[in-house]
Amino acid sequence: VHEIGKVHRIACIPGDGIGVEITEAAIQVLTKLSEVVGGFQFDFTTFDWSSKKYLERGWYMPPDGIEQLKKFDAIYFGAVGWPDVPDHISLWNLILPIRKELNQYVNRRPNRILKGTKSPLEGCQIGDLDWMFIRENSEGEYSGQGGISNESAPHAIATELTVYTRVGTERIMRFAFETARSRPKKHLILCTKSNAMRHGMVFWDKIFYEIAKEYPDVKTEKMLVDAITVRMVLHPKSMDTVVATNLHADILTDLAAALSGSIGIAPSSNLDPTRANPSMFEPIHGSAPDIAGKGIANPVGAFWSAAEMVRWVGEEKGADALMKAVENVIARGVKTKDLGGSENTKGVTEAVCKEIETLF
Ligand code: ATP
Ligand code: MG
Repeated sequence: VHEIGKVHRIACIPGDGIGVEITEAAIQVLTKLSEVVGGFQFDFTTFDWSSKKYLERGWYMPPDGIEQLKKFDAIYFGAVGWPDVPDHISLWNLILPIRKELNQYVNRRPNRILKGTKSPLEGCQIGDLDWMFIRENSEGEYSGQGGISNESAPHAIATELTVYTRVGTERIMRFAFETARSRPKKHLILCTKSNAMRHGMVFWDKIFYEIAKEYPDVKTEKMLVDAITVRMVLHPKSMDTVVATNLHADILTDLAAALSGSIGIAPSSNLDPTRANPSMFEPIHGSAPDIAGKGIANPVGAFWSAAEMVRWVGEEKGADALMKAVENVIARGVKTKDLGGSENTKGVTEAVCKEIETLF
């Protein structure tokens, strides 16, 4: 029996659909991890802020929801969104306010081929696809500014304002350069669309090169977002770290996840690098209504996100062990259908728990 050790307080927001199923799986695996590794514990508090509750009571988060979350060391998020509620309502009542109000201005999304998974790209092996997307998570296309005038009139106009601030742009560039510097290739691609978008994207380009002067050891490239999609498919090995806007990175990382094996494996970290607020960890996939309730969701993205959280709260050894256990299990063929296996969520979760035990 281990001593209690450091207690990390985790707020869990399972949300909707498979979000609930994979959050349960992640809690199970994290609990096992703390029991076996020792030296730390997790104290989970679950918040049922979901579309189902919204339909019953008319709100997702209570008015003091953000204040409640601020008391935790980290937040674990499943997925939000359900067919009965328009997506812009669920997103703008839950996940987007949390990201913004907790200053989680970075969304860090790694992609690599794990042992036992296979890229749909022919001949693409482990190590050939190892990317890190740094997504601007607080402004850009998702500023929420704009409106619709005279909606049903023939002269109706809808606007969606894209906003980039100097502060917001400099800080994401610095984080991207730091990330690129910490990786072996020290290579950073600026994803842009400054040929067609002549204000905000030109501003991004300018600030990128200003900040680049602080990082002479990082090799840089500037590429248009459309050209990046081609490069991801044809020359995956030639890329490492990419910094992109909220919308561009949203799209690129779904593609990236699919190219690395499945949308069900990719993790994300919504970070407040200042650590003044808790950061939030969630798989990149959504609530997947088509497979919800069947117990077949791939929990690997949830486990990888959990490992990122464990690392963020300072438990390096635990994070390494969790990733190793996950990779060992899928390498043995214990995997869900989306990865070509025949296991269900429970089967993979139990196998990972067992594997953690055998590692220690
Ligand atoms: P969001 O708007 O929240 O990004 P989405 O509409 O893009 O959601 P997802 O919920 O991510 O869609 O689902 C896209 C497809 O991928 C669906 O067919 C879904 O079943 C599948 N999928 C997503 N996550 C998983 C998972 N963890 N395991 C297996 N399949 C998944
Ligand atoms: Mg999506």
